[in-house]
Amino acid sequence: MLNVERLCVKKDGEFEVLHECTSAKNAGVNKQERALYEQRTQQNLQKLAMMQEKLYADGKEGVVVILQAMDAAGKDGAVKHVIGALNPQGVDVVSFKQPTKEELAHDYLWRAVRALPTRGKIAIFNRSYYEDVLVVQVHHLEKTYRMAERCIDDDFFEKRYRQIVDFERYLYENSYRVVKIFLNVSKERQKERFLERIDDPAKNWKFSQADLKERAHFESYQKVYRDVIDATAKRDTPWYVVPADQKWLARYCISEILVNTMNEINPEFPELSDEEKAGLAQCRTLLTADSQEEKEKNKK
Ligand code: AMP
Ligand code: MG
Repeated sequence: MLNVERLCVKKDGEFEVLHECTSAKNAGVNKQERALYEQRTQQNLQKLAMMQEKLYADGKEGVVVILQAMDAAGKDGAVKHVIGALNPQGVDVVSFKQPTKEELAHDYLWRAVRALPTRGKIAIFNRSYYEDVLVVQVHHLEKTYRMAERCIDDDFFEKRYRQIVDFERYLYENSYRVVKIFLNVSKERQKERFLERIDDPAKNWKFSQADLKERAHFESYQKVYRDVIDATAKRDTPWYVVPADQKWLARYCISEILVNTMNEINPEFPELSDEEKAGLAQCRTLLTADSQEEKEKNKK
């Protein structure tokens, strides 16, 4: 089976061939094995559910899963799929849309900081502050920002890369894991999925004419994604470039990546102190005495 570590970019400048795969075929995965992959995904999701409970009880580390992708790469479906397996009490899903006026009047990390989960929880960022170096860079939206002139220079995005790396290191050093996943869909498959959205009335709502405008910039996005991933993939806060032309493969990869992350965290149910254990034993005695009393009462 495909080892997701082969999809992992850990250091800047390391962008291997496998990191540019969009399909099962390019990743060397046999489509005949689909059922096997789906089975493994289900097992992973069950494991995740168990580990999530420990993560929550342990409360030591928080997890931020960042999902980035071009339109129709399957982000929303993947969120639904993974979330379905987890206890909703321990998960936040945050969608990063076009910034509001209030958000634009703040620094770009402001809304991300506000969306951070407490330790013990998992936050899934459906898009993220990476939009501030992706869509903003492709369309040069920074030119429309109300900011001091000294800030908007040729190094604008280089500075943002550095800030993001620093921010993620800050999170790592403060007991958070940041897992970054790029769902890599081909231009051809995007076209097929757009056509499906146009032709199927139940999917019409998923399509907007703006999506087509963005598609015209597909190649620019590819280049910018590559730069961004190169600049921000680090050992402790790596990027995974996941082939997304087949949803079953993408979901398998996401489930593997999350299980691996949880294994690294290795959460445990908290061990009680002797005092707490004694307290529990006392409660047990009281409860049993209680039920003894009930029995006596019922007899009468
Ligand atoms: P969707 O995820 O399809 O609902 O679309 C959300 C849209 O908001 C996408 O087109 C994003 O590129 C856009 N978006 C998200 N964050 C930003 C940002 N910081 N600046 C500009 N556009 C953004
Ligand atoms: Mg969209």
